[in-house]
Amino acid sequence: MANFDLMRRLAKSQGGKIILLVMDGVGGLPMQPGGLTELEAAQTPNMDRLAEEGSVGLSHPIARGITPGSGPAHLALFGYDALEYEVGRGVLSAFGVGLDMGPTDVAARGNFCTVDENGLITDRRAGRIPTEVGEEMVRLLRTITVPGVEFEVQIEKEYRFVLVLRGEGLHGGVADTDPQMTGKPPLTARALVPEAEHTAALVNAWIDKAREVLKDQHPANMMILRGFAQDPNLPKMQDIFKLTPACVAVYPMYKGVSKLVGMRIAETDAHTTTEGEFQKVAEIWEDHDFVFCHIKYTDSRGEDGNFDAKVKVIEEVDRALPMLLDLKPDVLVITGDHSTPAAYKAHSWHPVPTLLWAPGTQMPDRAVAFGERECMTGALGQFPATDLLPMALAHASRLDKFGA
Ligand code: ZN
Repeated sequence: MANFDLMRRLAKSQGGKIILLVMDGVGGLPMQPGGLTELEAAQTPNMDRLAEEGSVGLSHPIARGITPGSGPAHLALFGYDALEYEVGRGVLSAFGVGLDMGPTDVAARGNFCTVDENGLITDRRAGRIPTEVGEEMVRLLRTITVPGVEFEVQIEKEYRFVLVLRGEGLHGGVADTDPQMTGKPPLTARALVPEAEHTAALVNAWIDKAREVLKDQHPANMMILRGFAQDPNLPKMQDIFKLTPACVAVYPMYKGVSKLVGMRIAETDAHTTTEGEFQKVAEIWEDHDFVFCHIKYTDSRGEDGNFDAKVKVIEEVDRALPMLLDLKPDVLVITGDHSTPAAYKAHSWHPVPTLLWAPGTQMPDRAVAFGERECMTGALGQFPATDLLPMALAHASRLDKFGA
């Protein structure tokens, strides 16, 4: 794994420039025994050429056998041990929608939901209302005041929003109010540690008022909260790796996790396409030596169980890839944060195909295409995902020798 003390000693502020292209959940499995995976089935002439010239391997996001969420899996790609640096969901969402957090502020993620006349949840996602409706509900929640604390509410996407409490003496140790099933009422906010009693009481006062302002709405007539947390104050990539890093992503959570590690966040909106994202990379390339670019839909189509659609997303990324190659990066890494096999319709623990292309420094291996089977025999072997960033730095000639 990335040893931060060692990295601080060896990393140089000068050297080659790195692009980290992450196709979320790109790792896959055959739909039938003996078949091809999504990445193998996709027609990817550009990635295949890069695999032939460069080094490939398989990364383990957290540890062997562990199925990760995208937040910790990305932290690992950025070199952070996700078991040591746990980040609450609320914080990822708050940073993702561009809300700043002070040292004592607490953030939580909210879902609008539907409750029946007895207050029991009938739909945990309020019929997946569109973002515009969610925004109207957020405007109602913004009218709520509770003495002694400031509440900020911001839409995230569709039925999801972010709640931030600002004030003194707050604590993130509050349990979710989401009962995780229908037929139950939303739970009251409960302190998990004595220091969080005050915060839980403020949240409950806010929830009581939220119930009132939402009660005549439909289908979003209530809400549930989860992932209460404070800013974990992670060490920044500038400090550890001497990089000037930036992020190009569309989904708020990925912007959030990137901001937590010190990346500058490029402006995008929900309609930015893969080509649009690559265009953004080109626009900010001059001012940064590390650019992380995130593609969401490989994961979404994997979760849908739609093998062919996931293949199409990969092919679309491959077609646009020359836009990144035109920037002449010294190191281009193409990988995923975890596997999302269409056969599973969910994230999985399987190791993730990784391609490291660095024309000046790469070690060629026998791989002639980018896919799971090729990656099994590649020069990178199987490695913890936290090793990826040190390897990228090394290939970019940004690490000094250790010892005489
Ligand atoms: Zn993911």
